[in-house]
Amino acid sequence: MADGRAARTIAATNGVAQDTAFGAVIAPIHLSTTYKFPAFEKPGPYDYSRLGNPTRDQLADTIAKLEGGARAVMVSSGMAALDLALSSLRPGDLLVAPHDCYGGTHRLLSMRAARGYYAVAFVDQTDEAALAAALARRPKVVLVETPSNPLMRVVDIRRVTGLAKAAGALAVVDNTFLSPALQQPIALGADLVVHSTTKFLNGHSDVIGGAVIAADASVGEELAAWANTIGVTGSPLDAYLTLRGVRTLFVRVEAQQRTAGALAAFLDAHPAVARVHYPGLASHPGHALAKAQQSGFGAMLSFELAGGLDAVRAVVATLQVFTLAESLGGVESLIAHPPTMTHAAMDPEARAIAGITDGLLRLSVGLEAEDDLLADLSRALDAAARV
Ligand code: PLP
Repeated sequence: MADGRAARTIAATNGVAQDTAFGAVIAPIHLSTTYKFPAFEKPGPYDYSRLGNPTRDQLADTIAKLEGGARAVMVSSGMAALDLALSSLRPGDLLVAPHDCYGGTHRLLSMRAARGYYAVAFVDQTDEAALAAALARRPKVVLVETPSNPLMRVVDIRRVTGLAKAAGALAVVDNTFLSPALQQPIALGADLVVHSTTKFLNGHSDVIGGAVIAADASVGEELAAWANTIGVTGSPLDAYLTLRGVRTLFVRVEAQQRTAGALAAFLDAHPAVARVHYPGLASHPGHALAKAQQSGFGAMLSFELAGGLDAVRAVVATLQVFTLAESLGGVESLIAHPPTMTHAAMDPEARAIAGITDGLLRLSVGLEAEDDLLADLSRALDAAARV
C-alpha cells in the first residue's frame, strides 16, 4: 500500500490533518465552482470545479490508493463510470461483457451497441469455451463484474484479464460488489477498475456516485480530461459525504459480511429455499476461487424460493427489518426482486440466459443485529411456505 500504510489506515486517515489554512483535522469541503487566478495568465492549482476540485481530489486520491491504482476519476454515478471506462471504444470495436451483469449495465451496453457506438457480446465468463470464442473475435475491451449482480458468479480476474491482454484488449473490472476492502483487481491484472460509489464505498445510501481507477497514470489523465470535457465529474458535496463513508469502509464491510455469512447458512438449510447464491458457502461453484482472490465473501447474496413468484410476494409482504428497495451496500439491510426491480431493464430472454428466475431475491446485508435479521427472514419464509 501507498506510504507503506495498511489499506484500512489509508481509508480512515488519508488526507487527515493536512489543512494549511486553519489546521482543520477533517479536510474542509470546497463548494466554490471557480477559483481566483493569482495573476494574469497564472492560474492557481484549481481554476474551475468541473475540471478539478480539492474535495473531489481528496476522495479520488484515497480511492486510488485503496485500489492500488495510479489515478482515480470521480464521476456522477456508477453508470457514468462505466461509460467513461468504455469511452475508448470506437464503432466496429467489440466489447465482451458478462451475460449476468447489473441490469443498468446491460441496458447501457445494449443501447450504445444499438446506436452503433460499439458491438457487444454478452458472455458467461465462467464458461471457458464461450470466453475463448469471444476472445477469438479480438475484442478491444473485456468487462468483468465479480461477484456478479445478482447471481454472485465468481470470475477469475487474473485469468480473464491475462487472456484479455493476450488478445489485445483493455481489461475493466467492476468492483462495486466487494469494494477495495475485499478485492483489488489492479493487483490481479485489471487496467481499469469501476465503482458505483453509491454502494459500499459511500455506504450510507445518500449519494449517487461513481469512480474509474486507472492502473496507468497516463490512461487516468486521459479519462480525467474526457470526464471534464463531457461534464460528468462528481459534485464536491457528494465527494465529501463519500469520503466520510470511506473512513468506516473496513469496519462496515467486515461486520456486514459476518452477518451475511450467517444469513446464507440459515437460508441454505431452509426448506422454502431452493438455492442460495453466496460465495462463502462451500457448495458455491466459485467458493475456492473467491477464497483465493477475495479477502472476504462480501455482504451480498441471493436466493431462489421454491414457491416462485407467489412465495416472493409472501416474503416481501412479511419482512419488517429488511426494506424492499433497489441498491446495496448501505448500513440498512435491503431486499430486492431482480426480475421486477434491478434487472427489469433486461428483456425476459436476457434474464433467462443469465439465470435470473422469478423466484429470485437479492439481499444487501446491513449493520443490524444478526438475530433481528434472522428472525425477520424466518418469519417471512414461514409465510412463503404457507402459500
Ligand atoms: N455496477 C454495479 C455492479 C451495480 O450494482 C450498479 C448499481 O446497482 C452500478 C454499477 C451502477 O451504479 P449507479 O447506480 O451508481 O449508477
